[in-house]
Amino acid sequence: MKVLVIGGGAREHALCRSLSLDPDVTALHCAPGNAGIAEVAELHRVDALDGRAVADLAASLEADLVVVGPEAPLVAGVADAVRERGIPVFGPSADAAQLEGSKAFAKDVMAAAAVPTARSYVCTTPEEIDEALDAFGAPYVVKDDGLAAGKGVVVTDDVDRARAHALACDRVVIEEFLDGPEVSLFAITDGETVVPLQPAQDFKRAYDGDEGPNTGGMGAYSPLPWADPKLVDEVMASVLQPTVDELRRRGTPFSGLLYAGLAITSRGVRVIEFNARFGDPETQVVLARLKTPLGGLLRAAATGNLAALPPLRWSDDAAVTVVIASHNYPDTPRTGDVIEGLAEVAAQDAPDAYVLHAGTKRDEAGAVRSAGGRVLSVTAAGADLATARERAYRAVDRISLDGSQHRTDIAAKAAAEAPGA
Ligand code: AMP
Repeated sequence: MKVLVIGGGAREHALCRSLSLDPDVTALHCAPGNAGIAEVAELHRVDALDGRAVADLAASLEADLVVVGPEAPLVAGVADAVRERGIPVFGPSADAAQLEGSKAFAKDVMAAAAVPTARSYVCTTPEEIDEALDAFGAPYVVKDDGLAAGKGVVVTDDVDRARAHALACDRVVIEEFLDGPEVSLFAITDGETVVPLQPAQDFKRAYDGDEGPNTGGMGAYSPLPWADPKLVDEVMASVLQPTVDELRRRGTPFSGLLYAGLAITSRGVRVIEFNARFGDPETQVVLARLKTPLGGLLRAAATGNLAALPPLRWSDDAAVTVVIASHNYPDTPRTGDVIEGLAEVAAQDAPDAYVLHAGTKRDEAGAVRSAGGRVLSVTAAGADLATARERAYRAVDRISLDGSQHRTDIAAKAAAEAPGA
């Protein structure tokens, strides 16, 4: 199987790493990729938002499967363009990707499918905004309706800040505050059959103790020792299958990765948001535990054959990933700094710990330099979360990047509370 992956973050590095370990994958290509992905895949230049260019590249490589990583190409219709060329693609159509692209659309689907979520209003005028803020009270949850890479959401006790953010959006969703821990649950679907993966938890705030600004994600772990063992079955029945069924009923079947961001509230599980693609950094820990070969699984979803697939196989190991971000991330990340220590991790920590690259680039002299906000995702596995954590942080300590930052408390609480800890 020849596979082309679109994207260039740590999520795509995790996907490429797993695909490279699948014995059925005979050729692996990635566009645009990064310095780490270059070690397992052949890189190509393409405008990832240009469906025709991606389809041309896939055709010229005689790809048997295209995997679209990020949300922007999906919302732009890249999967549609590849599918029209007759090439199997893992990723939803632009219409189905509206589940992530528009919070108002997602709310409409959830209402039709009776999926539990926060009560909400979609507002377009200052009057509607004030009414909605009054109706729910503090803490206020205000979400820009469009794609904002996780940065369009403001949760605040300050009504003036809530109103100012709402007024700055063209269309805004104002909703009830959900208490309780968050869980990310991914499911692979071909539009009909739904195969859930293992749950993970990510850390969105920049600093230890969940302080500081929201980010794309600073770390993650899986499994969740504190979660109800019935959680996955419950979310399958109340969220994932009804959502997939509703999109098929509308004539816009969702095939690809359905990501449910959930809050485990005192009143039960509620959907915070849907995404239409693998989450970053949760993918790093979920794939670290998946034993079923990834290429066959994604191709089965892309070709409508998931029902025939045997149950997924999982490692009993726990996995932890710690993101190393550049100086001043998320505001004005500085790029171009040299990264050192990558060879030391490969020599001393592999295979239990390894570095997945996000914003990295190799310069003309061969040095790897930072090229984005989130730079590396240091991932480790172990018999339990405490061991995986220890290995991840040992590897983090070997890496030097001037001015970089990382959280020191990823999975700390879960590891301390895990049975046997
Ligand atoms: P979203 O982009 O919808 O995932 O929101 C980003 C983050 O804002 C979520 O991961 C939550 O931490 C927080 N958030 C979003 N909606 C709510 C809500 N209704 N109640 C509490 N926190 C929320």
